[in-house]
Amino acid sequence: MRAQPTASHFINGKYVEDTEGREIECIYPATGEVVAKLHSATPAIIEQALESARAGQKIWAAMTGTERGRVLRKAALIIEERNHELSVLETLDTGKPLSETLYVDATSGREALEYFGGLAGSLTGEHIQLGQDWVYTVREPLGVCVGIGAWNYPTQIACWKGAPALACGNAMIFKPSETTPICALKVAEILHEAGLPAGVYNVVQGYGDVGAALVGDARVDKVSLTGSVPTGRKVYAAAAEGMKHVTMELGGKSPMIVFDDADIEDAVSGAILGNFYSSGQVCSNGTRVFVQKGIKKAFLKRLKERTEQAVMGDPMDEATNFGPMVSANQMNIVLGYIDKGVEEGAKLISGGKMAKRDGFFVEPTIFADVTDEMTIAREEIFGPVLSVLDFETEEDVIARANDTEFGLAAGVFTNDLTRAHRVAAAFEAGTCYINTYNLAPVEAPFGGSKASGVGRENSKEAINHYSQVKSIYVAMGPVEAPF
Ligand code: NAD
Repeated sequence: MRAQPTASHFINGKYVEDTEGREIECIYPATGEVVAKLHSATPAIIEQALESARAGQKIWAAMTGTERGRVLRKAALIIEERNHELSVLETLDTGKPLSETLYVDATSGREALEYFGGLAGSLTGEHIQLGQDWVYTVREPLGVCVGIGAWNYPTQIACWKGAPALACGNAMIFKPSETTPICALKVAEILHEAGLPAGVYNVVQGYGDVGAALVGDARVDKVSLTGSVPTGRKVYAAAAEGMKHVTMELGGKSPMIVFDDADIEDAVSGAILGNFYSSGQVCSNGTRVFVQKGIKKAFLKRLKERTEQAVMGDPMDEATNFGPMVSANQMNIVLGYIDKGVEEGAKLISGGKMAKRDGFFVEPTIFADVTDEMTIAREEIFGPVLSVLDFETEEDVIARANDTEFGLAAGVFTNDLTRAHRVAAAFEAGTCYINTYNLAPVEAPFGGSKASGVGRENSKEAINHYSQVKSIYVAMGPVEAPF
């Protein structure tokens, strides 16, 4: 299988190559085959991207919001037409099964372009009357934005960062994860096909050093990172040196609380969605499943039965609904955590092994009798490992759910209306769910609190993170001065 793009980078409206850059191999996780070889950006490539973004941004910002929105919406239509081709690429890049990518990845990218394309024409400032004087505000773009992606949702991340940035009149330089370099190039190609001026959306490949070079450049005004907390700390610190705007979408160890009165099938569905979708490689996963004692036996029985129905196999076969880890490295990290869970005394209920097949497959794994201090209950695993913890009272479970440095997401399953809202209010997390889990519609803000991040993606909130307000005071009378 091949997924070789025309060239490694997309700059100033066209594909660009520089084979001097360190090689990046794109490996299909279901077989271990190399499906594409690309090159990390050299300083010359980074320079080209920065200069073209600066020039393109001026042209783009001079257009009306309606004109900008039209380009984004046209790109959304092209994505819809090419959904199958883009989904196959996403599957090759990540190993996620087609049964997911056909419905989620390009689709979610398309929705971001549609949504922010729709908003672009209605971004306004305000008028503040002060007696005879008045102030008006103007919402201005920030300039050149750098987007840095993780490997779990390469098409979605390229669009979630690009769409609001472009709607506000910025240019973007996007650096995909070195593990999944292919999909963002297609997003750039399609945006330009839809009429985007050259230089407004550029893709440069590279490892962390390329990201760091972009973040440190004085010509960059904003950095939006999706990645782990340790990377987030480094990127946030480097951005602070230049006083740049930031959005940080980082990791999590989110709680999901199931009360005795919950609908068991819904709660089990939530736990499956929040732990095994994309083989557990989702930042907002509810990996600490707190189950109230009275429902524990029935919950574990149904969770095990349903998890064992997962269809692991060739991701290109639409009957498969559980794919491999993105890389051998990630597989080994996950297997290491499973060993730790067993060592520290958690009870293995299901899975726990590498699958006996090519590629980087780990079985969907369930642990019960997990306690708060175990490593699997404290650290982000980013794989298909679900931990069930017992609890008795609401007060106790809220304190334990919040006892983490992370604050990305949290969920509660209960049929008690007031308890549902009380618990949601008590969660220290940016994205909360009542009687469902892991939905991320473009209309709703998404992001974390505490160490899980800064800023929000999606919704009108994202506009505030890709624009700044200028206020202009207009005096209508004589100027009074003390002397
Ligand atoms: P990572 O932190 O290893 O890498 C993320 C990106 O940062 C990559 O593109 C990498 O090349 C780049 N990078 C690394 N060092 C850098 C530096 N010093 N300066 C600039 N860029 C640098 O993360 P990953 O392994 O690719 O992704 C998994 C992590 O991402 C998990 O922690 C997961 O929770 C998180 N994630 C968060 C969200 C969210 O929306 N909150 C979504 C997806 C993934």
